[in-house]
Amino acid sequence: MDKIKSIRAKEILDSRANPTVEVKITLESGIQAFASVPSGASTGVHEAHELRDNDKNRYNGKGVLTAVKNVNEIISPALVGRDVECWADDIMLSLDGSRTKENLGANAVLAVSLAIARAAAKSYGKELFEFLSRDKVYRMPTPMFNLLNGGAHANNNVDIQEFMVVPHGLDLPDAIRAGSEIYHTLGILLKDRGLSTGVGDEGGFAPNLNTDEEAIELLCMAISKSGYSTDKVGIALDVASSEWYKNGEYLLPKRGEKYTSNELTEYYSALIKKYPIISIEDGIGEDDLAGWSKLTAALGEKCMLVGDDLFVTNTQRLSMGIKHSAANAILIKPNQIGSLSQTMSVIDMARDVGYKYIISHRSGETLDSAISDIAVATKAEFIKAGAPARGERVAKYNRLLEILDMIS
Ligand code: PGA
Ligand code: ZN
Repeated sequence: MDKIKSIRAKEILDSRANPTVEVKITLESGIQAFASVPSGASTGVHEAHELRDNDKNRYNGKGVLTAVKNVNEIISPALVGRDVECWADDIMLSLDGSRTKENLGANAVLAVSLAIARAAAKSYGKELFEFLSRDKVYRMPTPMFNLLNGGAHANNNVDIQEFMVVPHGLDLPDAIRAGSEIYHTLGILLKDRGLSTGVGDEGGFAPNLNTDEEAIELLCMAISKSGYSTDKVGIALDVASSEWYKNGEYLLPKRGEKYTSNELTEYYSALIKKYPIISIEDGIGEDDLAGWSKLTAALGEKCMLVGDDLFVTNTQRLSMGIKHSAANAILIKPNQIGSLSQTMSVIDMARDVGYKYIISHRSGETLDSAISDIAVATKAEFIKAGAPARGERVAKYNRLLEILDMIS
């Protein structure tokens, strides 16, 4: 078994010009592997702790030199010299000692966790997806392309965070082609209407619109004008409504409108009747469990209801949700929990209870494409990696094409 020779972390930039952690692992055999971690903007309050320096004189307090130091001075001495398959995640969890990884930082721990998995895969001459698969049966996920951005991801007047197209009736290359063609058609539709074609954090367009519903209408138009039917290409929303939730009600910050959870459920019900919406994420806020149960009872048969901020890729939060019949699907973001092994455990739990799972990027990303390997290895039905544009987003889709080439 190959042994860990060195672990080095450094501060690099993410796609939003904020610092993040990159780790390089070298094994005694000379094998090297890298990993870097993403960062959210509409972050759930129950997520693992992303350690930032809070030194206002550097990067507006967002520096990650403390997390880097934790890798180089605490994690590295504990792991160097051990077998590459030494259950490094467990060692890091006990070194950290907290529930939220607030001591070492979830960003520090996850970067090491992913880099070690890559190094271990290489030491067997395997790709990461092969190394993570239990049965060597692979499935290509359906991409969920975020084509219109609002909420905390865009400087426009749209409150819903993400409007996605989902080519669920097409195989991967055709799905990626559909995503690209619909994206371009949408750009032309916006331009023809004199609307902005500037993009938000995940590469989707971010125009000002009269209503959030207009965004859905534009997507429907772009789908049909590109020659696709809505039985093959559906629509998904990420409402990210935890951002709106205060004192028992939902205040849409950009429009200034107020909703109760019942009114939101009625609103979604009307949208589902009118449009080919197959999935709604975070339709209800992370701490409104009663609202989630009611939403799921009302719409769970008709629509995928995805818990992102609700579950934060955490087995405890997911079991609480299962008990309350909240949602029927979970978004999986490795940095919400902060290690690869814990990410795999949540996926196992979701699969066991029949919840769908969607492997997801964050709004602040790097070129690291581990989520694509995780999606293929775990046979996830969907992957969410933003628009089919911008390097850090297409890195994930292109990695899927690379994997498809390897397994075909
Ligand atoms: P975030 O957004 O990465 O800013 O949290 C993505 C999402 O809410 O799904
Ligand atoms: Zn979300």
